[in-house]
Amino acid sequence: MTIAQESTETTDVLVVGAGFAGLYMLHRLRDLGFSATVLEAGDGVGGTWYWNRYPGARCDSESYYYSYSFDEALQQEWEWTERYAEQSEILRYLDHVADRLDLRRSIRFGRRVAEAVLDDGTGGWVLRTDAGERYAARFLVTAVGCLSSANIPRIPALETFGGRWFHTGRWPHEGVDFTGLRVGVVGTGSTGIQAIPVIAEQAAHLTVFQRTANYSIPARNGPMEAAFQREVKENYAEIRNTQRATINGHPFHVSDRPAFSVSEQERTAIYEELWGRGGLRFRAAFADLLTDKDANDTAAEFIRTKIRETVHDPAVAEKLTPRDHPFATKRPPIDTRYFETYNRDNVTLVDVRESPIVEATPTGLRTTSGEYPLDCLVFATGFDALTGPLLNIDIRGDGGRALRDVWAEGPRTYLGLQVPGFPNLFTITGPGSPSVLTNMPTAIEQHVDWIAACLRHLRSTGSERIETTDDAADAWGAQVNAAAHRTLLPMAESSWYLGANVPGKPRVFMPYAGGLAAYARHCEEVAAAGYDGFRLTQVR
Ligand code: NAP
Repeated sequence: MTIAQESTETTDVLVVGAGFAGLYMLHRLRDLGFSATVLEAGDGVGGTWYWNRYPGARCDSESYYYSYSFDEALQQEWEWTERYAEQSEILRYLDHVADRLDLRRSIRFGRRVAEAVLDDGTGGWVLRTDAGERYAARFLVTAVGCLSSANIPRIPALETFGGRWFHTGRWPHEGVDFTGLRVGVVGTGSTGIQAIPVIAEQAAHLTVFQRTANYSIPARNGPMEAAFQREVKENYAEIRNTQRATINGHPFHVSDRPAFSVSEQERTAIYEELWGRGGLRFRAAFADLLTDKDANDTAAEFIRTKIRETVHDPAVAEKLTPRDHPFATKRPPIDTRYFETYNRDNVTLVDVRESPIVEATPTGLRTTSGEYPLDCLVFATGFDALTGPLLNIDIRGDGGRALRDVWAEGPRTYLGLQVPGFPNLFTITGPGSPSVLTNMPTAIEQHVDWIAACLRHLRSTGSERIETTDDAADAWGAQVNAAAHRTLLPMAESSWYLGANVPGKPRVFMPYAGGLAAYARHCEEVAAAGYDGFRLTQVR
């Protein structure tokens, strides 16, 4: 189809989303002399950190490395105040980046992209917002995030509930005052585990509706010590190099010791030390925690013991004890006094696997074990991850084929960067890339740099079109699958990595589990080999 050009803003590149990915993409494009516009649904920059304003929202990666590495002056001048930055601080940081790099003048806020159509006539993309505005560009880059499409549970009769309800990923900007209220929280993933202790302190009563018990590691948050901040700044080059050289983009390596290479006593001491230190480093304790079930059991049992020691009521502790999936096969949360919260008099735990939610009522939630009276409900129920944010846009490629149809059986990409049949479309941290298995800014920078270099290559070789092939996507899909099955990750049957949290979503392990460093090397080799697996078409 050919689309009329009138009243259409046209640039070289259109970027959708102004979070970590979109902001950096815009900066790189400008540097290279491309004209670019960013379309952003929110009224400000920040993406995830713009929307997720729920109580207790903060980052599980430590602040000094959950940040951009591309600008030495930026990382030297910014001062983080806590070990784990809270949402408002990360948003301030991204606002600062947008101002410092003068990005806002190229961002159109309040524009939700409804449709992206490949124009057969020009070979470029035409986007339409839900307000009917049109934008066109030769290249389209999605920077829509992996966890931005809210998963709201289909609870029968929810519309009859008389109180207010919220999804954590769409939190009211003015905040919510829970003082004196009976609050229900559904969901005990990373978000619920952050929000529950904070809500419990404010609410008159909190009822937590848990479907899957979760392993959680204490965060041990605290103020950023001046001496540590100084040390980080003096060593940023090395820290960033380590991040790029690791599996997960964190500045520490997974230990090369297998769990059974040390005595039980030594193993427990190692777990104790990491438990005391806090944070995601716990899962790096041994080389084989994610590949050997027996090794994993040692970590899982250590955490189960901690839960039993922390929670006073043995029946509640038992409900909170994860048994149905190995440790870290779902993204492990980190917490601040999460298990301790169940010792409070004003907190009740309901196991909805034992007694499922039946329906909402005007005054609460009814499970098979009875009705729980509530004034408001918080859904910490996660996201339609990875594919959801892309499929929320009606993306139509060659011959008008819809991405929704092409991905009906699950996502199919080459390197998580391109989809066959969708030329000139790049997906930052798309399904099939390491993305959510990593510290996101590190994965984002790698993708943005690769896409920027690719666009520069296209320009210098006079190419107007790049598209991946079916063969390349099939071969890559097999590698994504094989990488997942070299780990224990697929054993978590209810994991959102597999799409299992969204009813009806195809069960496909979506992120690439082979490690960020190996993946980045592979991307470099693909580019060096003349963009192996892509077809480049010269200007006629
Ligand atoms: P999540 O991990 O998908 O957890 C959602 C929770 O809601 C799970 O406990 C899930 O149970 C439950 N749930 C979903 N639908 C339900 C239903 N119909 N009935 C009852 N329970 C239901 O989502 P999330 O906690 O928002 O976290 C998603 C990801 O975002 C994290 O894994 C992490 O990668 C990222 N995140 C990061 C941070 C951070 O860095 N600070 C914070 C929050 C989130 P099941 O487990 O049984 O499905």
